[in-house]
Amino acid sequence: MMTDIPKVEEKLYFNRFLVDAGKPHIAVKPHDRPSPQLRSLTHLCPAGCYSENEAGQVEIVTDGCLECGTCRIVTSRTGEVEWNYPRGGFGILYKFG
Ligand code: SF4
Repeated sequence: MMTDIPKVEEKLYFNRFLVDAGKPHIAVKPHDRPSPQLRSLTHLCPAGCYSENEAGQVEIVTDGCLECGTCRIVTSRTGEVEWNYPRGGFGILYKFG
């Protein structure tokens, strides 16, 4: 008998975030063309924080970041992402899901 397995989106719904307005904890460094590693984050980030703009540059909105570190690891050799944890009291709260 198969049980219903919740989708990732359904699990993420239970998380809560406290946004540190105006102080994003992760930044994409200025670039003309993103490396394949940086571009891949538009698909790899589980929270969907990365997107590509009309100029082909990769942008990030850190609201909803899970602090999983994927983007930090993927770009560790290219150095295109500046990664920090949020300030104390801000960021994700996992206690609900
Ligand atoms: Fe996305 Fe994880 Fe990077 Fe946060 S730490 S922006 S969730 S890949």
